[in-house]
Amino acid sequence: MAQGQQIFILPEGALRTTGRDAQRNNIAAAKAVAETVRTTLGPRGMDKMLVDDLGDIVITNDGATIVQEMNIEHPAAKMVVEVAKTQDEEVGDGTTTAVILTGELLSNAEKLLEQGIHPSIIVRGYRMAAEKADEILQTIGKDVVLKDEKLLQQIAQTAMTGKGSESSKEKLSDLAVRAIKQVSETVDGKIKIDLDNVKVEKKEGGSISDSELVQGLIIDKERVSGNMPKMVKNAKIALIDAAVEVKSTETEAKIQITDPSQLQAFLTQEENMIKDMVDRIVKSGATVVFTQKGIDDLAQHYLAKAGIFAARRVKKSDMEKLAKATGASIQTNLKDLSSKDLGFAGEVEEVKIAKNEMTFVRGCKNPKAVSILIRGGTEHVVDEVERAMTDALGGVAAALEVGKVVAGGGAAEIELARQIRKYSGSVGGREQLAIDAFADSIEIIPRTLAESAGMDAIDTLVKLRSDHDKGKDGMGVMVLECTTGDMLKAGIIEPLKIKTQAVKSASEAAQLILRIDDVIASSKKGGGMPPGGMGGMGGGMEDMD
Ligand code: ADP
Ligand code: MG
Repeated sequence: MAQGQQIFILPEGALRTTGRDAQRNNIAAAKAVAETVRTTLGPRGMDKMLVDDLGDIVITNDGATIVQEMNIEHPAAKMVVEVAKTQDEEVGDGTTTAVILTGELLSNAEKLLEQGIHPSIIVRGYRMAAEKADEILQTIGKDVVLKDEKLLQQIAQTAMTGKGSESSKEKLSDLAVRAIKQVSETVDGKIKIDLDNVKVEKKEGGSISDSELVQGLIIDKERVSGNMPKMVKNAKIALIDAAVEVKSTETEAKIQITDPSQLQAFLTQEENMIKDMVDRIVKSGATVVFTQKGIDDLAQHYLAKAGIFAARRVKKSDMEKLAKATGASIQTNLKDLSSKDLGFAGEVEEVKIAKNEMTFVRGCKNPKAVSILIRGGTEHVVDEVERAMTDALGGVAAALEVGKVVAGGGAAEIELARQIRKYSGSVGGREQLAIDAFADSIEIIPRTLAESAGMDAIDTLVKLRSDHDKGKDGMGVMVLECTTGDMLKAGIIEPLKIKTQAVKSASEAAQLILRIDDVIASSKKGGGMPPGGMGGMGGGMEDMD
């Protein structure tokens, strides 16, 4: 190739930014995401209204929901969305916190970059700080166990604040704590909670205070026939993963019928088969039947005649939860059904809620799966209460599984920042600057909470730092009262895991973004190969093989 000739290694229309430009660009995008959710933090946080291209509206205060509904395209901004997602999956609460922290870590890194500090030094400092932060958080955490009822309620309430459930937060937090306690299991001395075992159902109508915990399950199905009882007390429940019908393939098999009596015989035979199936159910002693498959009309008739309540095409996941709640075992073959396979519920009832029939399976004995029914005036209300409930369930579960809680209202963050600064002094070098920047970044949480309450952010931080220096480690921002105070006394408590996970994923994402010095984006319009084949380098590549 001739000297000075321009070489194209990228397809036409590809966009490339490098070095400081790339960094500046990525940081700005990530910060923009953080800035969007910042005003939603805490009990005085505002809501966002998101409208998608079909005009559907979501009104929410939930960080994870906001960033997901925003349909973000910028690659670095997408990494921040990932932080929210991870936080949501791992803890179920603290998504806004994690996103804001990521933005602030990058914002402070940018200041260091401007002072000429190399990104790799910042990355190293952040990594050291994050490791130390985890250590410190473990020592800040206070113990919580299953019988700390009041503390668990406080965790649930803290998790729900700001999500439109204020008026009924006692009621809702009580539901959340009871549900989690009910499904928690102790394995090798450790508490295990599978959140899948708490089913949250929502139906608009009524008011939030009509929400309830069902010691069993709510299934979005009605009984198959109006002739069946609407309610069965002391229900003996059969769970069947088989069709209560003669398989259509069998009836379609060619049959030669030469005279009418043969047809009659055939139909009678089919009828007998169905009758036989129903007889087996009746003989087992079942008074309620849930099947994952269909129930033939004739079978419905016989079941109704026997006074049995039956629902069909129940979701597999619901069948599994029904098994956990009632103690029944799912049978795949009716022939094997016997009384010992049946489960128990105090009451099975079809209830009409907001124009829909649902089946309530209540009063199970020590169920390992439960349901929470959320009610509320409108669709938007129940949606947001459901998100609040998910946060509360996640918060209580995270607190119990890890067994530790921290003070909310930014108290844990002030203490963490204080101890990280102490540590940075022992590190020295340029990394020290990055570690201090990390500590400053963590204070974005109390700072934002103070701002949301209309307090002077600087004064508040100065006051809180000095309190913590004096050993008052519970002091934080009393957002609703517009002052500072002891969060542990005020009952504003969060699970430790919210903080450890937020620090971990926020710092990892920040480090990832800081390491990037080159962004190459292929042209979107082309949708693959640009016209005229690959760019300059393409020919050379072909020659090679
Ligand atoms: P996230 O998505 O991060 O959970 P939230 O909007 O739920 O965001 O706000 C959580 C923050 O609000 C936490 O720092 C928590 O300690 C704080 N917080 C919750 N309730 C109160 C309260 N009553 N007073 C002060 N801070 C509170
Ligand atoms: Mg929250």
